[in-house]
Amino acid sequence: MESQIHKIHQQLMDKEITCTELVQEKLNLLKANTNNTVNSLLDKQALKLAANVDAKISNGETIDLLEGIPFGIKDVYMVQGTYTTASSNLLKKYKSPYTATAIQNLLDAGAIPLVKENCDSFGHGSSSENTIFGAVKNAINANLVGGGSSGGSAVNVAKDYTVFSIGGDTGGSIRQPAGYNNVFGLKPTYGRISRYGIMAYASSTDCVGPIAKSIEDIRIVLNAMSGKDIKDQTTYQAENISQENILNSDEIKTVGYFKNFINTDAIDNEIKADFLVSIEKIKAKGIKVKELDFFESDALVSTYYTLAMAETASNLSRLDGTNYGNRIEGKNLKDTYSITRSENFSEETKRRIVGGNQVLSQGFSDEIYLKGLNLRDQISDNFEKDFKEVDIILSPVTPNTPPKIGDSLKDPLAMYLSDAYTVGFSLGQLPTLTIPKGTATGLQITAAKNNDELVLKFANFLKDTI
Ligand code: GLN
Repeated sequence: MESQIHKIHQQLMDKEITCTELVQEKLNLLKANTNNTVNSLLDKQALKLAANVDAKISNGETIDLLEGIPFGIKDVYMVQGTYTTASSNLLKKYKSPYTATAIQNLLDAGAIPLVKENCDSFGHGSSSENTIFGAVKNAINANLVGGGSSGGSAVNVAKDYTVFSIGGDTGGSIRQPAGYNNVFGLKPTYGRISRYGIMAYASSTDCVGPIAKSIEDIRIVLNAMSGKDIKDQTTYQAENISQENILNSDEIKTVGYFKNFINTDAIDNEIKADFLVSIEKIKAKGIKVKELDFFESDALVSTYYTLAMAETASNLSRLDGTNYGNRIEGKNLKDTYSITRSENFSEETKRRIVGGNQVLSQGFSDEIYLKGLNLRDQISDNFEKDFKEVDIILSPVTPNTPPKIGDSLKDPLAMYLSDAYTVGFSLGQLPTLTIPKGTATGLQITAAKNNDELVLKFANFLKDTI
């Protein structure tokens, strides 16, 4: 698919369309949509911004590439003055007092936010069913889940309701819904984009990233959002990735894949067969392919959920109705905290808070939490070793195709296991991209830390290869 951003930019400059028409058309589509992708529309502000872009164009001024491009925002980002609900009852009426750095960078570049998008509450989930706004329906088959937790964002892009959307990925929440809806979704290297102003889920793996319909659009949006931010001490200054740079992939000589991801009963037969066909096509282009050993899926999923639950229990402890959210008064203060949290958090969020506090509590933390941290180090060491031997690791995005709406809610453990292929790369803080090719739910391209450019290069190479 060609770049939507370049195409729209040209149409605006050539006066084939006005920005107001473009924004109005997308707002109408979002308003009428039956996939439950919208938590709130930012229509007034969007139309005002569009009018400014039109005024500039009719004055003969040039506009920047992202100026006037409509986009969506997962409803976990602060955008000053807008509702930021995290799809939860607790924050149903909460308005952001400030704007997230990543979003501010896009606003500064002139992009126009249209919508706060439906997702799993606080990022907790893999289906976008844990939400007070109704389950997000898949863009290809509305009986299936939209994927999660950034389901609304992926569906909006797939349906062309937004040109790109900004998701959040802690353990797969950009890559998996991108795969379920056949679009591109990038989780950059941890720290490349500031987390300031995204509602914290698991701070050690939370990443901001774009969902779009082309590699070029992913590149443009990634560049616009990246950069060191004094408000997030884990950020670093990454170099801009140029369009020319990703055209040549000669330096990619060896690709690896984890054989235990493929040689298992847990993978769908067709996904497995299609993945192996893609591997053969890559080999046919003269690239060496290496089978790699990796941790078993159960170990990856347990390590990720141990740490993610511990971190979210800690991060969400601030939501007790005192400073934020829908406070429900009890007999005394303790009672107020307890009722506010019990009544307002979803079942899934409560499961994670209870699980997280359990693994952090005295008598358990050595056995479980510290062991999780240790396993995480081993996983990172394994990646370091792998990237001495291969340039890229290729994997399916998910072991299975999207479930029917309702099924994941009945079986949380099965839902956790469906994250088997994405969570390891999150623990390693690696750059990893879903491309809508190769298997029914796409392929995941991963490189060593801070090698986001190589990921885009290989994606570009695969354009004509598979
Ligand atoms: N599905 C994973 C979880 O529920 C990942 C979610 C995410 O990346 N926000 O934790």
